[in-house]
Amino acid sequence: MTDRTHNRPTAEWQRLDTAHHLHPFTDYKALAKKGSRIITRADGVYLWDSEGNKILDGMAGLWCVNLGYGRKELIEAGCRQLEQLPFYNNFFQTTHPPAVELSALLAEVTPKHLNHVFFTNSGSEANDTMVRMVRRYWDLMGKPWRHTIISRKNAYHGSTMAGASLGGMAPMHAQGGLPIPGIEHIEQPYWYMLGGGLSPDEFGRKAAGWLEDKINQIGPDNVAAFIGEPIQGAGGVIVPPETYWPEISRICKQYDILLVADEVICGFGRTGEWFGSDYYALEPDLMPMAKGMSSGYLPIGGVMVSDRVVDVLIDKGGEFFHGFTYSGHPAAAAVAAENIRVLRDEGIVDRVKKETAPYFQKRLREIGDHPLVDEIRGIGLLGGIELMGDKSRRRGFENDGDLGSRCRDYCFENGLVMRAVLDSMILSPPLVITKSEIDELMEKAGRCLDLTARDFGLS
Ligand SMILES: *Cc1c(COP(=O)(O)O)cnc(C)c1O
Repeated sequence: MTDRTHNRPTAEWQRLDTAHHLHPFTDYKALAKKGSRIITRADGVYLWDSEGNKILDGMAGLWCVNLGYGRKELIEAGCRQLEQLPFYNNFFQTTHPPAVELSALLAEVTPKHLNHVFFTNSGSEANDTMVRMVRRYWDLMGKPWRHTIISRKNAYHGSTMAGASLGGMAPMHAQGGLPIPGIEHIEQPYWYMLGGGLSPDEFGRKAAGWLEDKINQIGPDNVAAFIGEPIQGAGGVIVPPETYWPEISRICKQYDILLVADEVICGFGRTGEWFGSDYYALEPDLMPMAKGMSSGYLPIGGVMVSDRVVDVLIDKGGEFFHGFTYSGHPAAAAVAAENIRVLRDEGIVDRVKKETAPYFQKRLREIGDHPLVDEIRGIGLLGGIELMGDKSRRRGFENDGDLGSRCRDYCFENGLVMRAVLDSMILSPPLVITKSEIDELMEKAGRCLDLTARDFGLS
């Protein structure tokens, strides 16, 4: 089978792309000047671009290709389902086998008090769904004034109106009149930036205390929920101090506030446990998820809902006026179910925990000796490398991301995808990465740090 559209010269794709395609999170003027990089195929942990360059994908796509590229089981599960029943909806008291099978599998692998799922097509939609469901819960509980959701600065919860509002990204809020009403933000548990002279443990307790302060400021009876990523991903792989989550859990329980763990990145094995909530022993009332749910092969997301909330939704009755045409899409659900079976039956999450994550973290910490590196963060197969300029940012030097973007460009040129968040370099490779591929990744990362340091006269 020949396919003309897969055989254009790079320059022609770039021309058409600039002429017709508005990319997400992109400066259009800057992109038009240089043209897109075009990825044409992938296998395992590697990508190939239209110029034939082979690139180690240290980001698993966008934190999502947990099983790596080219898994036949997932491809076949999707194809089989497209032949059997490419679409039917889950509205109006109807469903289909893939949605049911996936629901049951999710109940099995998620924490034990989470036994129901509401399907969406993305993490953003999962968070929008969460907002509507949390407010619906308090309405049914006879407390419609319990409306406000507390989130954190520098959180990422998606790009829809509610998702971007829950997120704590100031540049996003500045576009489009966000946040929407009823969403408040507290400071993040980012010890490197905000910890000052406190030990990480002291700072963790202090950062959790900001939640209690905010609750008291708003009035405990007005607060519906608190949302946080167990580990902040897009904000720069910010690992909270050990003392943070136990204290947050305690505060939510004390004030009867629903706890929402956004597992879009941490879920499906990323930390070496099935969910970030398992890693931190959290008992979230709602758990938005997406990304690793299908390893990115087809778009799907959802919210896991605790028995406490489900019981109210069922017992008090009345229709929940919410849903998406493609909620629980059959092909996406079939792929997600197969993804979970492979993760489970091949013991991949366990292998991350026992073998690859410890090795990855050890190699990552070796990079910490590099003169350009100020702090190393990471858990499981998540890593953050905080770069410093002529002064440590820890001591108050605000850099503007020049080091990070230079380093990221060197990575691409040298066959590695490593993302930059300001001057933090971020890693989140596929969970199937081997030790020798980790060696290759770290060796390339080290070389790109050398090149960056040289450019800035810091080696
Ligand atoms: C990516 C992400 C989202 C948004 O998911 P989309 O599928 O891009 O809408 C939400 N929360 C977290 C923690 C994420 O990393």
